[in-house]
Amino acid sequence: MHALIKRLKPVCWSLFTFGLMTLPLSAQGGQTPKKPPTFFEFLLRPKFITMFVIAGIALFLLLSKRMNSRIKVTILLLSTFLYGIAANLPLKLFASFSMHPSPICSVAKAMLYGFRIPMIVSLAVILFLTLVGPKLFCGWICPVGATQELIGMAADKMKIKRLPWNFRLSQFIRVGIFLLFLFVSGTAILHIVNQGTVVPIALYDYVNAFHGFEITLQKTLLDNIIHFLPFILTVVLSFKLYRPFCYLVCPIGLLTNLVEHFAIFRITLVKPPCNDCSICEKKSPCPTVPEIMKEAVVRPDCFACNICVDCCPKSSLEFGTQLVREEKE
Ligand code: SF4
Ligand code: SF4
Repeated sequence: MHALIKRLKPVCWSLFTFGLMTLPLSAQGGQTPKKPPTFFEFLLRPKFITMFVIAGIALFLLLSKRMNSRIKVTILLLSTFLYGIAANLPLKLFASFSMHPSPICSVAKAMLYGFRIPMIVSLAVILFLTLVGPKLFCGWICPVGATQELIGMAADKMKIKRLPWNFRLSQFIRVGIFLLFLFVSGTAILHIVNQGTVVPIALYDYVNAFHGFEITLQKTLLDNIIHFLPFILTVVLSFKLYRPFCYLVCPIGLLTNLVEHFAIFRITLVKPPCNDCSICEKKSPCPTVPEIMKEAVVRPDCFACNICVDCCPKSSLEFGTQLVREEKE
């Protein structure tokens, strides 16, 4: 295992150093560019650079088994602050950390109005981080994801009993919302007038928890309800359900669930020494662990939260690659 970590360390460090090395480049980008930024100019913005740094740190700590709940809370708070709260403060210092386009908009707006550079870069970063570790973006960087994870941890501390997920049902709802979005918005059968222009209704605009971080009051009561309700519901439901917004609504959750099956690093089962005690299934918040135990090829979402690894008394669950398993066997 030690040798394996040694071999895999470069991947974590390359994420980390890529972020650090490009900081000076991003600082040069202070002047207003005349042309719209290119893919790489956009990628070198502080938002994405810090994302690579945070993901690199999280991955290294997971692989080297140095992740603990204190570090986890610190990283999740940092992500919530940087990409959720700070980005929406009226301070220029943090303006470039803004989640615009939000993960939801990266999918929805791109499908409605075309794949523009900001959406392409956001999607590329999310997909890249999903391919490195299972959902490294969703697990450690997304502010809505981090908020739900933190609430879940707080609920555990308060001994609030969590409801189990029925993944077939949640996936049915998540796919259903996506198909409805395609039908209503993609086919442009319903319209609204936005700033004098008639545009197709984007269904995800009405269920977008990312808006909750933008604390500006809207014009009408209905606008405020549409703006804040998805976030408020997400916060409340997170006390009883693990990451409700991710499993039920988010199109990025859906997309990354397909992609995470090809991730370099994922949770792997080592048998023996697993003695089928089921502690991991009971203590883990997700519907994924039972499928890992069955060694199922298709799994529900894994957010690399490390809970199952932490609670296994036999250290039979590891954050690693298929290689880890083969070495043990
Ligand atoms: S599924 Fe969506 S809301 Fe959840 S963590 Fe990923 S991007 Fe964020
Ligand atoms: S408990 Fe394990 S399988 Fe479930 S989301 Fe966390 S790391 Fe993934």
